[in-house]
Amino acid sequence: MKKKKKRKIKDPLRFAVGVAFLALIVMLLVFLIAAISGCFRSKPNPSVEEPVSSVEPTLPPTPSPSPTPEPSWEEQRLADIEHYVRAYGNCPNEAAIEARMATMAIDPEAKMVAFTFDDGPRTGITNEVLDICEENGVRATFFIKGDNIASHEEELMRMLSLGCEIGNHTWEHTNIEEIPASEIREAIGSVNEAIESRFGYTIRLFRPPYIKYGDKGSETRNTLVALMEEWNMAIVNHTRSTHDTYASYTAERIYNRGVMETDELGKKLDGSIILCHDKQQKTVDAFRKIVPELLSRGYQFVTVSELLHYSKDGFHAGWIYSSAN
Ligand SMILES: [Zn+2]
Repeated sequence: MKKKKKRKIKDPLRFAVGVAFLALIVMLLVFLIAAISGCFRSKPNPSVEEPVSSVEPTLPPTPSPSPTPEPSWEEQRLADIEHYVRAYGNCPNEAAIEARMATMAIDPEAKMVAFTFDDGPRTGITNEVLDICEENGVRATFFIKGDNIASHEEELMRMLSLGCEIGNHTWEHTNIEEIPASEIREAIGSVNEAIESRFGYTIRLFRPPYIKYGDKGSETRNTLVALMEEWNMAIVNHTRSTHDTYASYTAERIYNRGVMETDELGKKLDGSIILCHDKQQKTVDAFRKIVPELLSRGYQFVTVSELLHYSKDGFHAGWIYSSAN
């Protein structure tokens, strides 16, 4: 009995140990099965959630570009001119607008010359230059000073309505070599902004007063070129100066020097940029003779931008042009 009793006490203990051992084995097996099944679980693991993006679902792709192609430079040029013909051209009817627009045509194969007038607008003088442009259906480029804008809006509107080009000649005729490079942005940018805000017109050309734009590699030049690139503008020098500001140059001499001499001596007039100033009467008198003469010789009077866009090189922001190649 004692033995039995002892056995009875001993057996449950062994039984419990056995159960515990078995339980441990089962747990190990379960763990092993779980681990193995985890290894072969198909990916991606559905128990792992994709990170939730805080960004709104992306919009459907933008529709394919409109079938209408971008206007060419020439189409855009004509559209811009027509806008100003309608806005400022004093054209009484559609026929008058059409007649004005007909004078804007350019033959890329024919000879071209770009006359430029600096330092204006000047009361009286600038309007006389514009009269000559209007009477002959020709265009020119005016490098204006910013401090002339407010008092000469009429002339500026008339330039635009005749397809002429407005260029930048700084606000107050600043020699940019004589100011800190940090001030160049304001000297030029102020003119761009004034013309843009008043007329919605974007200036593309800069002519440095005194034709001073810093030596290559200088801080002035580097700053200027960087600004031109930023504003999509080019720097315009000239092929030939008429020297019309020299006291000794009469209208006749300007006519000869600026034009006839060049053409008759076989020098390059086609593709050239001619420097004049719309601030004295003799320049007007010379221009009045020059225009019909050169028209009869087959030249087209175009703006500097037109000249550059039709040249082999084309227009490039930051470039310095003395003529069109
Ligand atoms: Zn000047």
